[in-house]
Amino acid sequence: MAANPVDTDALVIGAGPVGLFQAFQLGLLEISCHVVDALPHAGGQCVELYGDKPIYDIPGTPATTGRGLVDSLLEQIAPFKVPMHLGEQVASLAREPDGRLRLTTDRGTVFVARTVFVAAGVGAFVPRRLTIEGIGRFEGTRLFYHPDALDRFVGQDVVVHGGGDDALRTALALVAQARDSGRPARVTLLHRRDGFQADATLVAGVRAAIAEGTLGFVVGQPTGFDDEHVEVTRPDGDVVAAPVDAFVACLGVSPRLGPIADWGLDLERKQVPVDTARYETREPGVFAVGDVNTYPGKRKLIVCGFHEATLAAWGATSIVFPDKAVPLQYTTTSTRLHELLGVARD
Ligand SMILES: Cc1cc2nc3c(=O)[nH]c(=O)nc-3n(C[C@H](O)[C@H](O)[C@H](O)COP(=O)(O)OP(=O)(O)OC[C@H]3O[C@@H](n4cnc5c(N)ncnc54)[C@H](O)[C@@H]3O)c2cc1C
Repeated sequence: MAANPVDTDALVIGAGPVGLFQAFQLGLLEISCHVVDALPHAGGQCVELYGDKPIYDIPGTPATTGRGLVDSLLEQIAPFKVPMHLGEQVASLAREPDGRLRLTTDRGTVFVARTVFVAAGVGAFVPRRLTIEGIGRFEGTRLFYHPDALDRFVGQDVVVHGGGDDALRTALALVAQARDSGRPARVTLLHRRDGFQADATLVAGVRAAIAEGTLGFVVGQPTGFDDEHVEVTRPDGDVVAAPVDAFVACLGVSPRLGPIADWGLDLERKQVPVDTARYETREPGVFAVGDVNTYPGKRKLIVCGFHEATLAAWGATSIVFPDKAVPLQYTTTSTRLHELLGVARD
């Protein structure tokens, strides 16, 4: 047995909108939980695919954005102090002899949980990787995919690869960081063509930085990488090698259902069948909510996922509290729920 597995009533796989609301519903029922997501931040599709776009069909919220919704969900679960394990993909799920579920992530974290909530959406969002032979060995030292923090690049010559929002935002942030830190650093944007598919404000910022010379710009594709250089093939076939300290690839992320397909959940067209009373899978104690599940009439909408998460949390009560009939309480009137939410009044 691996050292110190995390012991929990519930493990939620996925920190998309439905996984976050799942954590809220579990919190109201006093079921302890941890949340794991492959991405380095919460939000699933809402942040990854439409962070700044408006969304109009969240009950009681006439308009917000993908990111605004996720911020609200995070604020809502804050009282429960849910431990979040971000940047980790759940790789395996197995049954312990005592009936509990044992899950391991690709970073070696082990959970032993009484119940599992698969809120994996359309799969784990993983960065699109470069396919240059041997490049994998540089990952984490000189090659980075969609890094969240940029302070490690202070004073370094960095090439940012990509033409979307994230690449442009990263390039501009590195330019600002070089200016503010006072440590000379060269920032270069590398893209396959002289045109960007990005927010107009970002494009304008990048064009201005290129014009004033604080951001270099190269059109081409990376075709080689060694301990000191990146080799770029230009559209006319010319090959140039430029020295770099770090290469930051922002080529987008794509969802992969990945290991979930091997967990014996009898997938139907890459989705997990569930009942509609508890949203439980064929594996007792393993629930599936949100975009990842399927049942007659299923609609991939956030509001449907919220309903599923509510009933799945109630479904778990008979496993977590086998000797107790858990009463339904209203957040408006229950003093116990007020205590849990940190809104108790004298
Ligand atoms: C462009 C667009 C616009 C949309 N607009 C609307 C709208 O207006 N209204 C609406 O209701 N819905 C809308 N949707 C659909 C909505 O975004 C989804 O229904 C919702 O995101 C599903 O939430 P989820 O939590 O189930 O999954 P996701 O949001 O997909 O989150 C799943 C999370 O699980 C993680 N994950 C998966 N597998 C693993 C693993 N093995 N280990 C760790 N982490 C894992 C992923 O990294 C991801 O972060 C839209 C979708 C798109 C693409």
